[in-house]
Amino acid sequence: GSTIGILGGGQLGRMLSVAAARLGFKTCIFEPAGDCPASHVANFHLQAAYDDEAALKRFADSVDVITYEFENIPTSALDLLESLTPIRPNRRTLAVSQDRLTEKAFLNGLGLQTAPFAAVDDEFDLAEALTEIGAPAILKTRRFGYDGKGQARIKSAQDAPQALADMAGNAAILEGFVTFTHEISVIGARGLNGDVACFDPGENVHVDGILHTTTLPATLTSSQQMDAVLLTAKILNALDYVGVMGVELFVTAKGLVVNEIAPRVHNSGHWTQNGCAIDQFEQHIRAVAGWPLGDGQRHSNVEMLNLIGDDVDRIPELAKDGKVAIHLYGKAQAKKGRKMGHVNRILGPA
Ligand code: ATP
Ligand code: MG
Ligand code: MG
Repeated sequence: GSTIGILGGGQLGRMLSVAAARLGFKTCIFEPAGDCPASHVANFHLQAAYDDEAALKRFADSVDVITYEFENIPTSALDLLESLTPIRPNRRTLAVSQDRLTEKAFLNGLGLQTAPFAAVDDEFDLAEALTEIGAPAILKTRRFGYDGKGQARIKSAQDAPQALADMAGNAAILEGFVTFTHEISVIGARGLNGDVACFDPGENVHVDGILHTTTLPATLTSSQQMDAVLLTAKILNALDYVGVMGVELFVTAKGLVVNEIAPRVHNSGHWTQNGCAIDQFEQHIRAVAGWPLGDGQRHSNVEMLNLIGDDVDRIPELAKDGKVAIHLYGKAQAKKGRKMGHVNRILGPA
C-alpha cells in the first residue's frame, strides 16, 4: 500500500491519520515535537525541525504524497519537499493563505466580499488606514495567527498605539469590523479530477476568539446556503485545489462576507464525523490520494462542542449521554486555551 505524509502532528494530523488507516494507507507524520497527538496513531513519526534538510528529504522519499494539517510551513521546507514528492493542496494555495493580505486580495479578485482592509507596517500606515476604514476595526498580524491570537480590537483611534504594540513588530493588516448576524463555515472538498463536494454550512460560535460550538443546520435561507456553497466551489476551482478547505463566513444584511480560508481540514468541520457517512478527514485523504470524493450529505443534525483546557473534565458527565460522540486528542495537560478534544451531540435526523 502507499504512504501519506502529513506535515504537523496535532489533533488534525491525528484524525487524518485515523482516516487514512481506515482506507488502508500508512501515515508518516513530520513533527518537531516528540509526544504529539498524531504520533500516538500514525505508523511513523519523523521528529525533526523544518530546517533539517536531510530529515525533510527522508520524509519526502518515504511517502507517496504529502499533505498538511497547518498552513504555516516554512517556504524553504516546501520548496525542498515539492521537488521530491507532490504536495496537496498545492503551493499556490499556501502562498495565498499564509498571509491575510494576499488572501483577502485573492478573494476580492474573485469578486467575493471581505472586510475592508489595509496593510499596516507602522503608526503612519495605521493612522491612514483608520481614516480610510474607520473604527471599530481589528488589527491582526498578517501571518501565523490562530484562535484569535495576534489580534487587537480598536474601538476608537486612541486604542491605536496599544494595538500596534500588540503586533510586536510583525507586519499587520487592519480590518474594518464586519457587522454580522452570525458566523458560518463551509467545509468544501475538491478531487484530483476537479469534482467538488461541500458539506452543509455549520453555524459557529466563538468564545474569546476560539471556536466554541458548531451547529447543524445553520440558520440560513436556501439562497444564502446556495451562495455559501457556490462561493466555496469558486475558491476551490480558482486555486486548482485538491483536498478539504474550511471557508469561514460572516452572514450580513449585504450578503456573505468571507472572513478567512483554511487550506486543510477545519475545527468547524468536526461535526461531519458523526453527521455524515464520509467525514472531512476521510474526504481529505480521498482527495489527496486521488480517490473519488464521497458525497457530503448530512444524515443528522449535530452540535459540535470544543473541549478547551479544563472543559475536558466534563467528559465523565458527557459520556453518560449515549448520543454524544467523544473525540479526545490524547494531550497530556489541560493548559488554558488548549484544545483537548471535542464532542458531537446528535440532535436528531437531518
Ligand atoms: P482561527 O482559529 O479561526 O484561524 P484566527 O486567529 O485566524 O482564528 P479570525 O478568524 O481572523 O481569527 O478571527 C476570530 C474571530 O474574531 C472571528 O471568527 C470573528 O468572530 C471575529 N472577527 C475577526 N475578524 C473580524 C472582522 N473583521 N469583523 C468582525 N469580527 C471579526
Ligand atoms: Mg485563522
Ligand atoms: Mg478564523
